[in-house]
Amino acid sequence: MNTSETFDLVVLGAGIAGLTTATAAAERGLRVALVEKTEAVGGSSAMSGGWFAFSGTPEQDAAGVDDSAELFLQDMLEVGEHRNDKTLLDAYLARQEQAAAWLRDHGAVFTQVEISSGQSAKRSHLSDIKDVLAKLHAAFEVAGGTSYLGHRATRLVVEGERVVGVQIEAADGILELHSRGGVVIATGGFSRGSEMLKVFAPDQLAAIPYGGKGNTGDGLRMAWRLGAGMADMSFVSGTYGSHPDTTDEFHELLTAYYLGAIIVNQSGERFTDEAQSYKTLGREVLKQQDGLGYQIFDATVRAKSERGVPLKDMDTLEDIGHLHRADTLAELADIIGVDADALAATVEAYNRVVGGETVDPQGRTSLCNGVGELKPIAQAPFFAYPAKSLMTTTYCGVTITPQGEVTNVDGEVIDGLYAVGEVTGGFHGAAYMTGTSLGKGAVFGNIVAETVATRLGESQ
Ligand SMILES: Cc1cc2nc3c(=O)[nH]c(=O)nc-3n(C[C@H](O)[C@H](O)[C@H](O)COP(=O)(O)OP(=O)(O)OC[C@H]3O[C@@H](n4cnc5c(N)ncnc54)[C@H](O)[C@@H]3O)c2cc1C
Repeated sequence: MNTSETFDLVVLGAGIAGLTTATAAAERGLRVALVEKTEAVGGSSAMSGGWFAFSGTPEQDAAGVDDSAELFLQDMLEVGEHRNDKTLLDAYLARQEQAAAWLRDHGAVFTQVEISSGQSAKRSHLSDIKDVLAKLHAAFEVAGGTSYLGHRATRLVVEGERVVGVQIEAADGILELHSRGGVVIATGGFSRGSEMLKVFAPDQLAAIPYGGKGNTGDGLRMAWRLGAGMADMSFVSGTYGSHPDTTDEFHELLTAYYLGAIIVNQSGERFTDEAQSYKTLGREVLKQQDGLGYQIFDATVRAKSERGVPLKDMDTLEDIGHLHRADTLAELADIIGVDADALAATVEAYNRVVGGETVDPQGRTSLCNGVGELKPIAQAPFFAYPAKSLMTTTYCGVTITPQGEVTNVDGEVIDGLYAVGEVTGGFHGAAYMTGTSLGKGAVFGNIVAETVATRLGESQ
């Protein structure tokens, strides 16, 4: 061991969850250490679309959106198949407006409000997430916080039954950080952790690996060693909608199906209700040949593209040659190597469903989660976007209380241990609603900072 230092709070991981917790705690006057394994802050948060899910915001009011915390809750439970821990949802809904205001106070600007996966109202608030993260880190340092970039947390330090610190490793040795107020695990998911995926979701190893480079499940492992409970582990799923040649450099995720596209497999057949959560679609597409599904749409859907807007940017995808265009469906089928008659029959059958002549065998009745009228695929030119499931996130992990305290397998609080963000389980249940991951990092980060500050204040 090289040296040791003492803080009021030690936060592990510098994505939205860790940066929010650390900054909010430092601004409450706590002496905070922020430990990040890679050389830069950001994690998966920096690679994300930047959508935050909130209801009751001024941005929704300005856009004339009719939404409420009750509807938000109902959508969360529906998308999570009622397997969510409702106490966590209640905590989120009670604190979302405060968290959104806190983000705005720290420079976040929500430039668009959109409907997306799992939502029945326009609830996704678009931010320039890299800018938000940079501003939070700057605010953390202004508030006197200490950053340990390039330091990997390896082991929690326990005295009696209380977590009192953490061992961290860097190229130049090992440090021990002691903490009076406890340790917060905010190390993200394990989308890059093939060992963890082998244990919890081996079928998902077929998805394209993605997410923050450091997201290998270290925090989950450290808490597991102390007997932490776990939730939602069986629901790990990639997100459907990324070209097989997706790279880390460009955020390539298209959800044209929420705008009216259908998804067909290599036999030219639909295989699921495209209005479902893109996580559910991620599971469904893995069952198809080569884990591949083509988003098929026409000129009316293509016209809804917005350059630079995550999930909707068809312009850039066409520029880089990942989106195929043809004047007829037969030509399109030829380009993507799908039987032309099969594709024509599928589109014809779908258009009959849209026209109300038949009921959809896949059960589709809307564009996205019960909202939006189906439109026929009829207007040339036609488009095909070949896409796989992208292992962006894992959305499962340690069990927590609404205050962010980690609980053990028996449901008892592990003294001195907190967790925030993607490393936590129980919030999403069976599937995920867009914007609720960045959202829960911001909401629970604020809650944990407040909880620890209050407890330290009371103990003095
Ligand atoms: C392509 C893509 C698009 C997405 N779009 C959205 C979206 O629009 N809206 C939304 O809500 N969610 C979205 N998500 C999901 C969301 O980005 C993540 O779930 C969320 O950012 C997780 O935040 P976090 O702070 O918990 O983890 P992260 O942001 O991943 O941060 C965790 C940090 O911990 C570090 N770390 C790991 N192990 C250690 C260790 N041992 N010691 C120290 N540090 C460690 C990691 O290096 C990382 O920097 C998207 C994800 C991806 C990949």
